Amino acid sequence: MTQLSFLQFSPKNPIHIAGPCSVESPEQIRETAAFLSGLGVPVLRGGTFKPRTFSSSFRGLGEEGILMLASAAHDHGMACVTEVMNEEQLALALPHVDIVQVGARSMFNYPLLTAIGKSGIPVILKRGMGATIDEWLAASEYIATEGNSSILLCERGIRSFETSTRFTLDVAAIPIARQRSALPVLVDPSHAAGESALVSPLARAAMAAGAAGLMVEVHPDPVLALSDGKQSLDFASFERLHDDLVRLCTTLRGIG
Ligand code: PEP
Ligand code: MN
Repeated sequence: MTQLSFLQFSPKNPIHIAGPCSVESPEQIRETAAFLSGLGVPVLRGGTFKPRTFSSSFRGLGEEGILMLASAAHDHGMACVTEVMNEEQLALALPHVDIVQVGARSMFNYPLLTAIGKSGIPVILKRGMGATIDEWLAASEYIATEGNSSILLCERGIRSFETSTRFTLDVAAIPIARQRSALPVLVDPSHAAGESALVSPLARAAMAAGAAGLMVEVHPDPVLALSDGKQSLDFASFERLHDDLVRLCTTLRGIG
């Protein structure tokens, strides 16, 4: 776990990973990196290969986006993460990024998990929207069994009958995954919420339930975002959430 030492829980950095859903331009990702590094967020996220429900939607800048993400992050002293959906994308990302993300739609892609395991790169393994906790943990074994133990689990909401949120954040999955696995459990409240106003309450619930940290989508101008603008925080709301969480986590540490 030494490679993930920057993700050790710190009440000063409850949001470990933040950034736009997608890398859209050098200006957009640099502006975000400058803002987040100022708050002490250690990892910049940005999708460059986007799994979109509708194939006609923006699907990311690909390799060019990876280079924009990595230079923005590294120039600001941050690490970076992008999602990969297949081995070809993994090979493009490996030389540039510090962490790769397996998205909810790829959690059952066992050849991808095996390739990431063999590569040894730190990985965020999102829970599939239709996966049980045990299936999620079993997916992590595909990576671990290849000798890669730098795995961060990430709960991001599951599909339920409820339509008021994009997905249903499974808060109970946090303590259960912690009981059944030694891996850190992060939470992505943004994709569960689907709406920016719900991100803060879900983020607070996640930390109170024992999450090791959070991944949050933030964009310089969410209205103009090419993906997931509705659930993305603007800088002012992000800073408010960050400050609220610092206070909450200090109290939670006292409760122990
Ligand atoms: C994302 O992080 O932008 C993303 C697509 O997440 P998920 O795989 O959880 O839907
Ligand atoms: Mn997104």
